[in-house]
Amino acid sequence: MDTSRRAFMVSASAAAAVPLIAGATPASASGTPPGPGRPSKPQRPSRALRALLDDIDRSRIEAAVRRLADFGTRHTLSSQDDPVRGIGAARDWIFDQFTGYAAASGGRMTVEKQSYVQQPGPRIPVPTVITNVVATLRGTTAPERVYVISGHYDSRVTDVLNATADAPGANDDASGVAVVLELARVLAGRPTEATIVFTAVAGEEQGLFGSAFQAQRYKAAGADVQGMFSNDIVGSSTADDGTRDPRTVRLFAEGVPTSETPAQATVRQSVGGENDSPSRQLARFVQDVAENDATGMDVRVIYRRDRYLRGSDHISYLQQGYPAARFTEPNEDFRHQHQDVRVEGGVQYGDLPEFCDFGFIARVAKVNAATLWSLAQAPGTPRTPTSSRPRSPTTRRCAGSAAPSPTWPDMRWCGGKPPLPSGPTSSRSATSPRSPSTCRRTTSSSAYAPWTATGCAVPSPSRLPHLASRGPAGR
Ligand SMILES: [Zn+2]
Repeated sequence: MDTSRRAFMVSASAAAAVPLIAGATPASASGTPPGPGRPSKPQRPSRALRALLDDIDRSRIEAAVRRLADFGTRHTLSSQDDPVRGIGAARDWIFDQFTGYAAASGGRMTVEKQSYVQQPGPRIPVPTVITNVVATLRGTTAPERVYVISGHYDSRVTDVLNATADAPGANDDASGVAVVLELARVLAGRPTEATIVFTAVAGEEQGLFGSAFQAQRYKAAGADVQGMFSNDIVGSSTADDGTRDPRTVRLFAEGVPTSETPAQATVRQSVGGENDSPSRQLARFVQDVAENDATGMDVRVIYRRDRYLRGSDHISYLQQGYPAARFTEPNEDFRHQHQDVRVEGGVQYGDLPEFCDFGFIARVAKVNAATLWSLAQAPGTPRTPTSSRPRSPTTRRCAGSAAPSPTWPDMRWCGGKPPLPSGPTSSRSATSPRSPSTCRRTTSSSAYAPWTATGCAVPSPSRLPHLASRGPAGR
């Protein structure tokens, strides 16, 4: 196995290695994990996580959505200095909310306005200042490891260049911003091991500009963003025909990485790795930790980067090679997206707060909270190997026996029998730490089963009924 193939394997298994919640209960009630080759069960929320989810306040989310809609328009080309109406007023209000929450963080949360000038393009007729509002909650023990949650605070109507008409953008995307704000509030006072970034970005409707700038900045700084989630249109579960699905949120996760190089494509094709991308593993992890009685939600992973001909800010992060996915509502009502506010044929059009389901948004916030908390309190992603030269197993330790080494130059497994000969790993690994004496190096034929943070190889999702049932288009 050459280095590039090994790098692909580790990369693809990234989220598989992220998993277990610090302080969470083991996968099985007895504390005995099911072991390699057997499906494990979704994690039960820990007491600390349940307390966190209980703090999420539906009334605050509703107030945030209504307040954002009250700025009249938040179009990216609208006024930046009017204190009442326009994107500038919304920007300052969001900044003030974050700043207020940061007061409870003991100095760990910092808030900034991240601005640059976007040059003209098809949806930007003049040079325009784009400002993201960013609250960064510094991790306690692994601050260099970063997770990002995003919503976009700009809005639009039918004509994407109309910066003056009322564009309440309650669902798209005050709902996502409200989720981000509420999570910043409930997490500010809770130390987390890794760093969490809460961000409200602008310029999304004009071309994902704010998030593109942000992701590029992280990349240029060498930031270790191990997961990013866009919350975009998470305001309602009701479809045009009245169908409701208030206990489901969709999570779009790509298979073939957006940033894939031709060389990586060759490796992916040779191993059949189109279902193994870091983003998709990240999505599986979300299901593991966020589908439970404490969130009251199902996470329907959709095996696509986004909806047909649509996009959101996670794409900006995917373009920089960061694992990312998009939460959005299960059904959509296009009478309330990107529409001029009007009554036509007796039908109310427009993205108004009255068409939002605030209980639903609160549950989406809980899904995000369970995800971020679990990621930030767990071990991080193993690094891409730095050498293809095998080393003695006696120089290695199984995860759990000591601090995991993210720079191991080769992959390994632990346990009494070899891992499966092929296939990706699953995030549903829940194996316990094994003795270092049981560590063995993988053979070339078993190298599809990389080391995971919990110590042992796990089987292909296709062999796990729980995952296989999700099918190529999610459930
Ligand atoms: Zn949107």
